[in-house]
Order: sequence, then structure tokens, then C-alpha cells
Amino acid sequence: MSPGPLRIGILGGTLDPVHHGHLFAAAEAQAACRLDRVLFIPCGHAPHKAEDEVTPAEHRYLMCVLATASNSGFRVSRLEIDRPGPSYTIDTLRELRAIHGQTTELVFIMGADAVREIDSWHMPDAVLAEARCVAVPRPGSELADLPSVLDRGRADRIEILDLPALDISATEIRRRVRAGRPIRYLTPDPVVDYIAREGLYVQAREN
Ligand code: ATP
Ligand code: MG
Repeated sequence: MSPGPLRIGILGGTLDPVHHGHLFAAAEAQAACRLDRVLFIPCGHAPHKAEDEVTPAEHRYLMCVLATASNSGFRVSRLEIDRPGPSYTIDTLRELRAIHGQTTELVFIMGADAVREIDSWHMPDAVLAEARCVAVPRPGSELADLPSVLDRGRADRIEILDLPALDISATEIRRRVRAGRPIRYLTPDPVVDYIAREGLYVQAREN
């Protein structure tokens, strides 16, 4: 642990499934922001998605545990899974703040696609006030033009990290499983094995 205040990174999303894009972004943010740990937080009820479009939370949670088990700096949190109602980031940040206190630095890690949608989030200014927000590149989503696409000065509050953008998405992994194509090396082997063992993503959902 580094001296000074505790620094906790947060990587949230449906994580359906977690993959090397998430893990690489978390590792880079951990190094760049000198984070003591990064919490992977699979959402309970995604506010923007219908319940039957998302794999049951326990599967998504267990895949995060499998993916992060080999890294002592990565942890998985059940905060959103165990909280009833829609999973709003602001509620999660406030819970973490209550647990860890005012001196802890909370660093919220987002991909470029998520950052570009921040105006449509629940209480975006409160999120930006509660956590240090960092954005990581993602193919297909610009970061350079944030000031012109986001409302009122919100872009000024977002730090952009410089790392190679990995073209990996959970949508593509789900599609590949459905098509019978390999997903090895897109996500850690234990996750690949878990998906096969549980028969996840074989049946068509809406995406
Ligand atoms: P889906 O295709 O189902 O939307 P996803 O791959 O986008 O899945 P999410 O769970 O939606 O994964 O994303 C969680 C967070 O991780 C978001 O902030 C997203 O921008 C970020 N993220 C996802 N994939 C990558 C990637 N390849 N590189 C950087 N950030 C990523
Ligand atoms: Mg996504």
C-alpha cells in the first residue's frame, strides 16, 4: 500500500462478461493513479437495459471473481448486486464514501463510450463531484472532442489516460459464443471455462 490516503479505483458496468479490455483498463488506471486497489462492481439492475437482456448477477459476479483472482490488487464488490432497485453509480460512490471515509480517494474508471454518455446518467454532476473520474480509450469512441459533446464544463472534470485501446467488447464475446467461435484470449481462461461449463450466451438474447 502506498503512503497517504487510500486510493480505490472503481470499474463498474454490466460486465457480461468481464474481459481483458476491462482488466487492462483497470491495470493501467491502477498504475497511472497509484491505486491501492481496483474494485470491479458488476451492476445489479442496469438502469438502461431490460432485465432479460442481462445474464443473472451471480454469474457475472463469479466471472469477475475468476478473472481477478490472480491479482491481489483487484477485488470484486457485491454492493450493486445486493442493493435493490436500479444500480446508480452515485449510490455506489456514496456507499463507498460512507465505508471508507472522506480522506479516501475514489477513482471512477470509464471507457470512452461510457464517458460520452455521462450527460444521460443519473445525477452526473454528483458523480463528478464524489469521485475523480478517469476515461480510457475505446475503439470507435473519441475522447479528444469531449468538451464539445458534454454539457457545461463536465469535460474539464474528466482526466484522460493514455493507453492503447483494446477492441474487445462483451457484446462481441456473447456473439462469438453464440456463433460457436473461440473467445480464448479475449477474457481470462477461467472465465472462458466458466462460460462453457454454464452454457452462457449460447441462446440468443437481443444482442
Ligand atoms: P457490452 O458490449 O455488453 O456493452 P462492454 O464490453 O461495453 O459490454 P461494459 O460492462 O458495458 O462492457 O463496460 C463497463 C465499463 O468498462 C465501461 O466504462 C466501458 O466503457 C468500459 N470498457 C468496456 N470494454 C472496454 C475496453 N475494451 N477498453 C476500455 N474500456 C472498456
Ligand atoms: Mg458497454
